[in-house]
Amino acid sequence: MPRQAHPSLRRKVILTASMVRTYKACPRLYELEYIHQLKPVTPGEALTTGSQYHDYVAKILSGEEYRLEGIAGTMAAAFDRFLPWREWGIKAVEQEFAVKITPYFIIRGKIDAVCEDGCIVEHKTTRNTLDDMYLERLALDDQVSIYLAAQTLLSDKLINRVHYTAVQKPTIRQKQNETDSQFQERVRDWYDETRVKSFTVVRTFSQIEETIAHLKELAKEIRRRKFWYRNPAHCMIVDCPYRSICLDCDPQTLTGFVKKENNNEELSPCKF
Ligand code: SF4
Repeated sequence: MPRQAHPSLRRKVILTASMVRTYKACPRLYELEYIHQLKPVTPGEALTTGSQYHDYVAKILSGEEYRLEGIAGTMAAAFDRFLPWREWGIKAVEQEFAVKITPYFIIRGKIDAVCEDGCIVEHKTTRNTLDDMYLERLALDDQVSIYLAAQTLLSDKLINRVHYTAVQKPTIRQKQNETDSQFQERVRDWYDETRVKSFTVVRTFSQIEETIAHLKELAKEIRRRKFWYRNPAHCMIVDCPYRSICLDCDPQTLTGFVKKENNNEELSPCKF
């Protein structure tokens, strides 16, 4: 008689690189954000500036008309001034993907840009200095491996390079009596090659195969999980926006949080 998969293994799991990162950092955080589907009511400043910056850079790369405004605009202008993106042969920006890894496991995401040769471009912003440690950590990020694995499976050929771009957020503050335009001028002058960088990350074929195997295991683990343990070590590193409801959370009576429409509101509905 053919063996039947356990019912829990027949539930569909859809993961993005952020979901993988969150689960590995703190399963309780994953539960609050992706099982209860809660999100803080007000997005943080970092998210707003970061997403505006991404919008501006997408317009620059796709040759659309744009008018750069505010700090995000000054950051995008620095991107345009210091990075060799014109040499990369950008073919498309903000490309969504969905790849069926197994009948019950799908990987989704949105790639910032794709080059003619299939190489991926990803943009990052940070308050940190763009030193060797920051760049090394970025190179180890799961997101690179997941995107390359997905693109390799979709294209049926090895896609193994990512151009990372990194722009530091301004660490200088607006002075008293300084107008917005004066401040933006000072921020413009603050940018140089140390605060805007790009570098290329390469993965081997066996590393990409390893990523796919790792993702399958992770999806199985998430599907079977009943108890979502906390990882307080993670709150020591980041200021977790879910801290106020971490110990005691009734999803029906929460204030300061709303229920998300779905787990990946920035992506279009999944066709699988
Ligand atoms: S407060 Fe800490 S333990 Fe709780 S969900 Fe956030 S990261 Fe996890």
